Amino acid sequence: MKINRNYLNLQDSYLFSTIAKKVNAFRAANPDREIIRLGIGDVTKPLAPVVVKGLVSASEDQGRAETFHGYGAEQGCDFLKEKVRLYYLEKGVELESDEIFISDGAKSDLGNILDIFSADNTVLIPSPVYPVYVDTNVMDGRRIIHVKATEENGFLPLPDQKIKCDIIYLCSPNNPTGAVYDKAQLGKWVEYALSNDAVILFDSAYEAFIGEKELPTSIYQIKGAEKCAIEFCSLSKTAGFTGTRCGYTVVPKALVRENVVLNSLWLRRQTTKFNGVSYVVQRGAEQVFTPEGYRQTREAIAYYKENAKIISDTLTELGIWHTGGKNSPYIWLKCKDGYDSWQFFDYLLESIGVVGTPGVGFGEEGEGFFRLTAFNTKENTQKAMALFRTLYEK
Ligand SMILES: *Cc1c(COP(=O)(O)O)cnc(C)c1O
Repeated sequence: MKINRNYLNLQDSYLFSTIAKKVNAFRAANPDREIIRLGIGDVTKPLAPVVVKGLVSASEDQGRAETFHGYGAEQGCDFLKEKVRLYYLEKGVELESDEIFISDGAKSDLGNILDIFSADNTVLIPSPVYPVYVDTNVMDGRRIIHVKATEENGFLPLPDQKIKCDIIYLCSPNNPTGAVYDKAQLGKWVEYALSNDAVILFDSAYEAFIGEKELPTSIYQIKGAEKCAIEFCSLSKTAGFTGTRCGYTVVPKALVRENVVLNSLWLRRQTTKFNGVSYVVQRGAEQVFTPEGYRQTREAIAYYKENAKIISDTLTELGIWHTGGKNSPYIWLKCKDGYDSWQFFDYLLESIGVVGTPGVGFGEEGEGFFRLTAFNTKENTQKAMALFRTLYEK
């Protein structure tokens, strides 16, 4: 018996456990001090009422012989795929129903998609980044090239024709930086992928946070992307499904490599290794795409975005360099002069009791930066920003 030794090459992530340890130590030493968490990486608002209704009524379906559902299609129920298809149509993206795959979330699909790619591929991953992209490729032993997201490129790296790769990860709006590619910038990546026979894995988990009309909410709004990109979406941040679990992945049939339609590989992978998302959850997810569900879920997003704006406006006023906050729940700021990410973390915690996330935890290029999130209450966000101000105005 031989284990997959690639797993031994994974780096332990101590980011969130170190944060918890530091916060607990601070709390023990300062029992009377208030702590405000602007490091929350999960939604905090409950499911929309219309979604709950859908979940409850589908649960009742399952308790009656006439409406009971057993195994469903691995790729997802038609009623939900049709809703997703129409959602894309409103973005100006025409998809066929069998180009859409319903999943239990973007993270699973982002990892599982690698099943259809040889381990003998070179992968391009921006840094700093959502850690799943790196770890899933390390597990398979693929070569990884990091492309630097920096202050100079606004944390939106662009392709370099001198660097050759086969698989490219893009996340826009980005976690952790909140930076969003515009159509011209995404167009450059599409052009690179088409001319190098590469495939873009586009993580669109935060597309619902995009408010500016001219910014792309899907890579397929870029001409030619259907020939080089797979898109991963999730209801986690769109509709508070982090604990309920539902997402969808688009694999266009026009995406062909080595004369093989990747859609058929993914279909085969899913029908073999996956048995679909629960009928109950898909009925809840269906409600997200109804006019009422859209209204209710966008209300929660608007609330988070108002918090993001409170943070971003304060930083702008204080002259602090940052990205995000406008079309994303994340704000990525430069640490105060002379502080590295962890020193800045300690400084905020000890001086004002505000907890954020050190940028270096998302990759080397994150050193000297810091992530704040919009998932706390408006009151706490305002309070934290008033405290933040005191650190810069003295
Ligand atoms: C939260 C998040 C996801 C969504 O993951 P789910 O498995 O759908 O909950 C995907 N990508 C990024 C960058 C995220 O931050």
